[in-house]
Amino acid sequence: MKTLTKDHPALAEEFIKDEERTDWHDGALWWIRQKRDMASKQIPEWEALRDAASRIKSNVLSNLHDYLLEFEANLIKNGITVHWAADAEEHNQIVYSILKEKEITQLVKSKSMLTEECHLNEYLIERGVDVINSDLGEYIQQLDNEPPSHIVLPCIHKRKEEIGEIFHEHIGTPKGESDPTTLTRFARRHLRNVFMTRRATLTGVNFAVAETGEYVVCTNEGNADMGAHLSDVQIASMGIEKIIPQKQHLGIFLRLLARSGTGQPITIYSSHFKKPRKGQEMHLILVDMGRTRQLGRPDFRDSLKCIRCGACMNTCPVYRKSGGLSYHNTIAGPIGAILAPNLDMQKHADLPFASTLCGSCSNVCPVKIPIHEQLYKWRQVIVQEGYAANTKVLGMKAMAWTLSSPASYLTAGKAARWVLNNIPVAINNKLNPWYKQRDMPDSPKESFGEWYARNQSSSSVNHRDGGPFTNEPVNQPTNHE
Ligand code: SF4
Repeated sequence: MKTLTKDHPALAEEFIKDEERTDWHDGALWWIRQKRDMASKQIPEWEALRDAASRIKSNVLSNLHDYLLEFEANLIKNGITVHWAADAEEHNQIVYSILKEKEITQLVKSKSMLTEECHLNEYLIERGVDVINSDLGEYIQQLDNEPPSHIVLPCIHKRKEEIGEIFHEHIGTPKGESDPTTLTRFARRHLRNVFMTRRATLTGVNFAVAETGEYVVCTNEGNADMGAHLSDVQIASMGIEKIIPQKQHLGIFLRLLARSGTGQPITIYSSHFKKPRKGQEMHLILVDMGRTRQLGRPDFRDSLKCIRCGACMNTCPVYRKSGGLSYHNTIAGPIGAILAPNLDMQKHADLPFASTLCGSCSNVCPVKIPIHEQLYKWRQVIVQEGYAANTKVLGMKAMAWTLSSPASYLTAGKAARWVLNNIPVAINNKLNPWYKQRDMPDSPKESFGEWYARNQSSSSVNHRDGGPFTNEPVNQPTNHE
């Protein structure tokens, strides 16, 4: 797997070098955002649904312990073996031990961001297990040895021509073939053979119903169902926050998920799994992996309401322009930038700063997570804990001093105007990241305060002698210093 060791600004800089890709990536995601808008507007009770979903999830987070035990008891009653994993290592060991006991060396997987978080594929492959991702987007990413760049659209950053080349190299499609329908048919044929010959499958979980001990997996390709119906051993991995209390709550979440994610009224397959068929084994692994720690952070616990619809990514101007891989984390975008520092604050200290804090993410979130507020909170925590970059800390200290009194503010303004007028290269140089993409404005000769004081003293009647900027009407100064 390609590893990404640079931080978000450096990786984003690489992504935007390809202007054409940046533009269509931006456009494609905005198109999905618009589809989401249209789909949500068709439901008059949309806001009520969001509200209900958010409240149900609040209830789940406040009573997680009880719901998990209820879910576990019902799973066991239904004949499903339950495992608990504190972290990725434990999760991966459990999967491997299940396969080893049955002497299974091949596994087919449907989309599961949790197993991406756990790096399960790498773990199993190192131990001689052949793993194939059966979700088409994830399959493409796996062939290209790259992680998913989006939780719903794993290869959204790739052109169809690039996918054609990957397929030509790995599954022998004709050279130059890039028609999406043809490529999909090739992949389907190839994967069908995989489904028919694998004895074990692993799926993710979208919703786990505590009162019945069943779980629901949503896909558009039916790949989870193919794997589950044809396998002798079915494994499901879920984060402990995926619980919902009752089956009647499913309708709320299923309506929100598809519309928010892709603008569809519902995902093509919403499959319920409740008990093994005759001769089949079913295992469910409940994974913590930092979730209880996040639950213990009052400012961030609401992030565990996330149903992984991807809407916050599709609307985020930073995500759309910088690409998902620039977040160097399994879950990218605004929600990833809240979840990742909980796992490793030092490694992910850059991510909460990859946002304009415009609030668009919070506006579209179907479970009403105040995403931009949490990003802002994380910035404060990261600075307080000493993980912010030195340049950022120095810059903020300088700004705090500047804004601490009228005297320092006026002095800093004077100094900045003098530098811009006399040695502009001190600010307009390649070391200044802002200057790389922007022209600095010409500096005004005086501040608004100076201009105002001068006009007040020169005449209390005639104020029409022009402002501090040539051609500026006197009542519309644009320098807000
Ligand atoms: S945070 Fe909200 S909008 Fe973003 S993926 Fe999760 S549920 Fe969807």
